[in-house]
Amino acid sequence: PAATPTESGAVEANHAAFVRAQAAIPGGVNSPVRAYGSVGGDPRFLARAAGPYVYDVAGREYVDLVCSWGPALLGHAHPDVVEAVRSAAARGLSFGAPTVAEVELAEEIRRRVPAAERVRLVSTGTEATMTAIRLARGVTGRPLIVKFAGNYHGHVDALLAEAGSGVATLAMPGTAGVTAAAAAETLVLPYNDLAAVERAFAERGAQIAAVIVEASAANMGVVPPLPGFNAGLRRLTAAHGALLILDEVLTGFRVGPSGWWGLEGRADAGGYTPDLFTFGKVVGGGMPVAALGGPATVMSQLAPEGPVYQAGTLSGNPVAVAAGLATLRLADDAVYARVDAAARALSDAVGAALDAQGVAHRVQRAGSLFSVFFGPAAAADGVRDYADAQAQEAFRYRAFFHAMLDAGVNLPPSVFEAWFLSAAHDDDALGRVVDALPAAARAAAAATPE
Ligand code: PLP
Repeated sequence: PAATPTESGAVEANHAAFVRAQAAIPGGVNSPVRAYGSVGGDPRFLARAAGPYVYDVAGREYVDLVCSWGPALLGHAHPDVVEAVRSAAARGLSFGAPTVAEVELAEEIRRRVPAAERVRLVSTGTEATMTAIRLARGVTGRPLIVKFAGNYHGHVDALLAEAGSGVATLAMPGTAGVTAAAAAETLVLPYNDLAAVERAFAERGAQIAAVIVEASAANMGVVPPLPGFNAGLRRLTAAHGALLILDEVLTGFRVGPSGWWGLEGRADAGGYTPDLFTFGKVVGGGMPVAALGGPATVMSQLAPEGPVYQAGTLSGNPVAVAAGLATLRLADDAVYARVDAAARALSDAVGAALDAQGVAHRVQRAGSLFSVFFGPAAAADGVRDYADAQAQEAFRYRAFFHAMLDAGVNLPPSVFEAWFLSAAHDDDALGRVVDALPAAARAAAAATPE
């Protein structure tokens, strides 16, 4: 039987793993948010996962609402996906030559998102956005990229810029190691503020190569685009000869069969089509696959057809592609309906539990993605940009998170992340989350700023 999350032997075993990790790996983790920096405590070292559950090194079981930060749409270790990987691995791990399976994955992406007429497979979302902005600069011959505060597109230098002191001023480096010169080619604007984008184009339109935007922002908590925002970006970029890059790394094939664009962009839903899409996460089913796609005229500018260089030893890796293809083939309408229903039920339950304790909050949802913002300002007005998201009472999430963890629920270790569900989250798993909510809501109510 699984150990309980608070058993002292288990706490010690996990702590020993973290101490050992910190001596070998910076911060003990290979990606910063895993380190629990914003919630405190020891990150759980996981040993295995199955369906809606993850298990730590001490054998403790958790209902998982991280889902590998998105990829695990079908739940962990789906037997058909694991079998596809096993069988691909047995045929060879990597060839460095084209395969039919890569073509099948590209075709499956195009079937779901027809505007992705040509698809280039890469290994991470970061590579997809990095390539998309290089391609946009190559196609337009212009230097500047517009991005939005609180949108995350991976750790590309130009996309780790922070907002400067005013609208349409050039950005500052968002991290040590990014040069002022790299940041200076990025304009950072407030999200959901079309007027700011209009001003930027009025002032520097002839220099702007592309606008990149999360299809629905989910890296500052879940902040959906206001109605007409994405369509407005399409109108402005088209009018000024810039490309629109819709970053669906997180939302693509997760919030619906054709991603966020399928919910909002297709002609029958309002109608806008970006020049380039970036995909990741679900498209690899838990293995390193990501992609960019767009019209043949733009994509043909990539090497070897065109002059914009891009490459990768492991791009389209056969084992990774097998996982992505198996995942997308299994992700039918019934899967999306299940994940949607689970998200609706759970987000309602979270709201009710916090209401019952008088905790001011706002649950925001974009399809099956949702997150909670704490505090009276968020409760009253909602959260529509990064300034709103930062103004919340984040300290309440710390208490809420740890109460849930103690009850065997693995939430994202930051208030700025979306909660992820899968088609494997059945009534039993969801019931365990719901049962844990009252105590977590009490902890949030009692929390005080540090
Ligand atoms: N774009 C978005 C919207 C993301 O959420 C992420 C990662 O979370 C990325 C790009 C970067 O993807 P990766 O972590 O695979 O490099």
